[in-house]
Amino acid sequence: MESVTEQSVIESVPKGLLIGGEWRDADGGGKLAVDDPATGAVLAYVADASPGDCRTALDAAVAAQHDWARTAPRDRAELLRAAYEQITARAEEFALLMTMEMGKTLAESRGEVAYGAEFFRWFSEEAVRISGRWSTAPNGATRLLTMKQPVGPTLMITPWNFPLAMGTRKIGPAIAAGCTMVVKPASQTPLSMLALAGLLQDCGLPPGVLNVVTTSHSGAVMEPLIRDPRLRKLTFTGSTPVGRALMEQASEQILRVSMELGGNAPFLVFADADLDKAVDGAMLAKMRNIGEACTAANRFYVHESVAAEFSQRLAARMGALRWGRGTDDGVDVGPLIDEKSREKVAALLDDAVAKGATVLTGGQPVEGPGWFFQPTVLADVSADADVNREEIFGPVAPVRTFSTDEEAIRLANDTEYGLVAYLFTRDLTRALTVSEALEYGMVGVNQGIVSNPAAPFGGVKASGVGREGGAEGIEEYLETKYVGIAL
Ligand code: NAP
Repeated sequence: MESVTEQSVIESVPKGLLIGGEWRDADGGGKLAVDDPATGAVLAYVADASPGDCRTALDAAVAAQHDWARTAPRDRAELLRAAYEQITARAEEFALLMTMEMGKTLAESRGEVAYGAEFFRWFSEEAVRISGRWSTAPNGATRLLTMKQPVGPTLMITPWNFPLAMGTRKIGPAIAAGCTMVVKPASQTPLSMLALAGLLQDCGLPPGVLNVVTTSHSGAVMEPLIRDPRLRKLTFTGSTPVGRALMEQASEQILRVSMELGGNAPFLVFADADLDKAVDGAMLAKMRNIGEACTAANRFYVHESVAAEFSQRLAARMGALRWGRGTDDGVDVGPLIDEKSREKVAALLDDAVAKGATVLTGGQPVEGPGWFFQPTVLADVSADADVNREEIFGPVAPVRTFSTDEEAIRLANDTEYGLVAYLFTRDLTRALTVSEALEYGMVGVNQGIVSNPAAPFGGVKASGVGREGGAEGIEEYLETKYVGIAL
């Protein structure tokens, strides 16, 4: 096997727009720079699509829909399986590319490549299990045939924090169900998606089924597509404010929508918790992806009897982490994605400290190049600190205490978000009672990670609608039709 170098990986990525099976330049030749967040250096330039390019991409998806919906489920399944095998075989390439454009360490990128590829394997297995129902109406006069059909052309908008997996989690079920698509990756991390699109082409995906547009002016180029009557579905992963705006746009054509939005995850540690497990879980829930995950633990609520010990142990672990470029040996934490993100983390931390919080470790941005921030633990965080309400999206762990289960549940639910909550206890009854009371789409019990391709990922309240993965994932790309038959 040829050795994988930064240069060879960047060179191998297609840089154009994928429309109707062809790679092409943007109308007018516009280019968009992709930076390395660890150094600020430009890694590559990719095409900067115009509204006209995006319309042509939708034309291609619409033209391909009829035939694609009629392909054999087994063929779609085999294609996904082949893509899974290919991503796995090229895991090092994808991991290096992801680390360069997004910043996370190579070990974390390898984890995302495995996780992202798994959606293709999972949905290759789901593609051949789409089924319906046959029943007799209660009055006995009519037969009811219920069938599932692909929703139709779908627009997919994905974020920068998981550049591969947030794409495969949508593309996998769409291919399995028989939908065509236009994908718009985040402007800061388009390379992983472009590499994936090239791989799917190599695996034999027919022209027009998957079209990819990259752009520096997302709002202006996406809105006309969302309002286009030929589009049938919008699936979005990103921030809640953008999701809200897109849902409004999607209401014009009454699109099917799936929204995977922001989070504000509570992490509850009860008095009877195994503290070793709780600290391990906290490290994972807080530091996975540099804290830049929708599932990141945002608020730690620890029983007052164990709060001091938990906080000290967490601070010792966080303080021992080494930051640096994710490609370098021995690095545990990469940079934040950009200056704006780092400023937001610093502002939330300053606000908490001004309102009485104590810094147990960290507490400072790190001098550049790159957008690094010290892993930080805050104790004595007050109820009015902004960190209680806002997604931190960085390596800061604010700790507060509680005294009763009721108080823990009330604090955990006191947010507009509802993506994921974590709880640590040895008491099964407490684990189940609290899980039931938490207003969240997902709960991690004695574990700091919930992402699993076999499980329905998604949130309630301002964290979104719809589920990705699990048996539910493919339903988001299927319509139900019922045929009434008089015999
Ligand atoms: P973002 O700013 O909302 O951007 C997400 C995507 O939407 C990007 O592709 C972005 O393109 C595009 N976009 C931005 N404004 C748009 C507009 N007006 N019209 C159409 N598209 C637009 O979010 P982000 O900062 O990339 O990602 C972080 C957020 O995603 C966090 O809130 C996180 O919690 C959430 N997230 C949720 C999940 C989940 O499954 N629930 C998973 C991962 C992340 P540009 O790159 O060009 O701005």
